[in-house]
Amino acid sequence: MADRPDARPQKIRCDACPVMCFVAEGKAGACDRYANENGQIIRCDPLTILDARIAAGDEVKPFLAADWDGSLVESGQNFVTAIGAGTTYPDYKPAPFIVSQKIDGTDMVTVVTEAIFSYCGAKIKIDTDRHLGHEASVVRVGGEAIGHVMTSEYGSQMLSLGGVDHLTGGSKAEGRVTCDALMKLCNREAVELSVDGGSSVIVQAGKPPIVDGHQESRMRVGCGSATIGMFASQWRGLVDEVVVVDDHITGVVSEHQAGKVLGWEDTGIKILGRRSTPGRYFQVADPGLGWGGTNIEDPLSILGDWNPKKGARAGLRLMMVSTTGEQFAYYELNDDLQPVKKPLPEALMKSVNLIDENCEPAMCSVLFMGGAGGSLRSGVTENPVQLTRSVKADITRVTCGGAPVYVWPGGGITVMVDVMAMPEMSFGYVPTPAIVAPLEFTMPRQNYEALGGHTEAIRTVGDVLDTGGDYGKDTRGIAPEKGDLPWDRR
Ligand code: SF4
Repeated sequence: MADRPDARPQKIRCDACPVMCFVAEGKAGACDRYANENGQIIRCDPLTILDARIAAGDEVKPFLAADWDGSLVESGQNFVTAIGAGTTYPDYKPAPFIVSQKIDGTDMVTVVTEAIFSYCGAKIKIDTDRHLGHEASVVRVGGEAIGHVMTSEYGSQMLSLGGVDHLTGGSKAEGRVTCDALMKLCNREAVELSVDGGSSVIVQAGKPPIVDGHQESRMRVGCGSATIGMFASQWRGLVDEVVVVDDHITGVVSEHQAGKVLGWEDTGIKILGRRSTPGRYFQVADPGLGWGGTNIEDPLSILGDWNPKKGARAGLRLMMVSTTGEQFAYYELNDDLQPVKKPLPEALMKSVNLIDENCEPAMCSVLFMGGAGGSLRSGVTENPVQLTRSVKADITRVTCGGAPVYVWPGGGITVMVDVMAMPEMSFGYVPTPAIVAPLEFTMPRQNYEALGGHTEAIRTVGDVLDTGGDYGKDTRGIAPEKGDLPWDRR
């Protein structure tokens, strides 16, 4: 009896990450980044090439063979990024693309790989005075812990998300949710975060934060003290006292050094807070979503009794304002030295508007941070520490999807990059779980040879475009972000 042909579709193994999926014909693997096409494992996304000849308004186009005559390829107008390149994993082999190109007469080599980062996370800067949660509070998505609140910065709240503890050190669900949130944030998608004992905030790179349903629009002009310093001279003669309410430092113009120098007289005001230096008060209220990042809705709640022996008198004019100018109020003391609310005089409205005008737009910033000092260096050189030294010596330039990175001092190659400088949707994941991010190392060819690079694997840009790589030959061209190419960014 003749053998029956096996009708089941043949599965083949993808070896681009430790999961090693068996992928059926026409299907994608667990990460959706690789698929089985006609019995070949291919990368589902095209290799992305920054092409300065593409105008920003016409960002994406497939490359045509006609585009790639020798002069264009050697013009320094294009750069092979690692987006869609495939990974070096399991690291014993050269990186997917090692590309040579002449730039300003110098032979340059770029080693291109999609790196699998277990040690990675995102630092989030949220421009808001509103209290999101106390330092070290846990940040969650869907109930899973994915990070924590860091120190506040000037006008911004900072979060540290991801990291190996959340990716692999907790439950499976924690790792999966952390990885998903990181990938979305790095791909500029919106993610709703909740802070234990604090607020919920929707974060999206390059967009204003939404704190407890309220879209933030302005970043404060400065702390209360700085605001006094900036505007004290403009308030002179229009009002007798100004209090700038701020969760950090509440300023009082009559007591502040700026007010004293300008000749402001004592008003007998009493601030209920911890006096730091003259005219500067800490802890006037608890942090919150009210005036100047405090929890107060009535600014008079931070004032004590007015002292007539120190200048308080009937008719004294008081303005209270927040650090963004969003909240303001005007009062005059009555015969009992009680502030009575009145409409803000037109002349003072100008200075409130000026505070508002000097506030920058509130934004969320997402910086991806990862350690590239591990085994993937073997895809660059047979002697991995040489790459680290070359990066530290500023001979080798590191980029992520063509975008410049900050390389941390000290050991390893720990990089940080603004996702807004990278092409959109640059990030992927593998279910281990880990984040996949594009990584390129560019250096003069002679230095690449000196550090023990895989010179036998060097190819020209033209060759890459003609024949592709192990995972297919689809390419796309996009305009470089901010109109630049990596070698122009020194
Ligand atoms: S998860 Fe993706 S990269 Fe990893 S083996 Fe499966 S298809 Fe390949």
